Amino acid sequence: MKAIVYHKPWEIRIEEREEPVINHADDVIVEICATGICGTDLSIISGEYMARPQVIIGHESAGIIVAKGSNVENHQIGDRVIIDPTFYCGNCDHCRKGLRNHCLAKANTEAGVSIDGTFTKLFKTTSRFIYPLKDHIPFEQGAMSEPLSCVLTAVKKLAVSPFMRTAILGGGPIGLLFYIALKEHGIKEGVIYESSESRIKLIEQQNILAKGWKLATEFIPEKNQYDLIIDTTGSLLEKSMQAIADGGKISMMGLRNNLQTINPREIADRSISIIGSIDSQDTFKHAVDLINSGDLGLEKLITNSYSLDDFSDALKDLGCNLETKSRTNVISSLKSMITL
Ligand SMILES: [Zn+2]
Ligand SMILES: [Zn+2]
Repeated sequence: MKAIVYHKPWEIRIEEREEPVINHADDVIVEICATGICGTDLSIISGEYMARPQVIIGHESAGIIVAKGSNVENHQIGDRVIIDPTFYCGNCDHCRKGLRNHCLAKANTEAGVSIDGTFTKLFKTTSRFIYPLKDHIPFEQGAMSEPLSCVLTAVKKLAVSPFMRTAILGGGPIGLLFYIALKEHGIKEGVIYESSESRIKLIEQQNILAKGWKLATEFIPEKNQYDLIIDTTGSLLEKSMQAIADGGKISMMGLRNNLQTINPREIADRSISIIGSIDSQDTFKHAVDLINSGDLGLEKLITNSYSLDDFSDALKDLGCNLETKSRTNVISSLKSMITL
């Protein structure tokens, strides 16, 4: 089967790989129908996020069950399913403390990073990590479960209330999923700050934001401006501290290496919470249920899809150019999918 394989930064190739087979009674093999291209994939390709050489990348997926082991009773061959790609063992100290998103086995079990992922035809998982996808919901929307679930985990930790004055920093897919999740939690107004003109144009064209939510290009902090700031860029903590109100909450979700200077005294004196979140913890089922409701408007976020063969064109749409080995914020798609 054809697969997108990572070798080293800026070197990915389409290669032939062996098809997986059932070895254990709990195994399930899913024929992949759609996989979303995630910011993590772009960071792997550009060398900002470590992945194992020779790994098949891709992790946000939905498809159809084509084979299963003898123990798998709750799913049938032919079922449409969503894959939770974040393996956890259930036995390590972190898992036993409820920190399944920090499972100690994770370093060797992350689909699309340390073990083979889903930019290919077939993916082997176990029954524990698949969820049903309703017949009328497109696979592309099913593939949005993983990022939505990560966002829902962050929102749960933030314990938001509908009255918070809210800013989302970054209008990429994660920022837009935060918008959807916060709206579902009753936050009717907010501002999304996005510096890429082309992305702003796309968000406007797709008519994504409900009344009450606005777009702005430049985040110029003012004192006591927001009660809730979601930083999806991972590089605006200093500015967020200048804009956060007393008692406010700042959510850090972007993975970016950089140093920021903040005054710890201020965190105490002004009762500020800075809350980090990675991956998903006990929210995958919620994400699947929301997606199966069909009410989220996800079709507006998914603006392009490509075949495996056209992977490099799909990357170009997202500002990632394999020929020039460069990334820019001139983009022509919000969320892109690889469909098979
Ligand atoms: Zn992802
Ligand atoms: Zn574990």
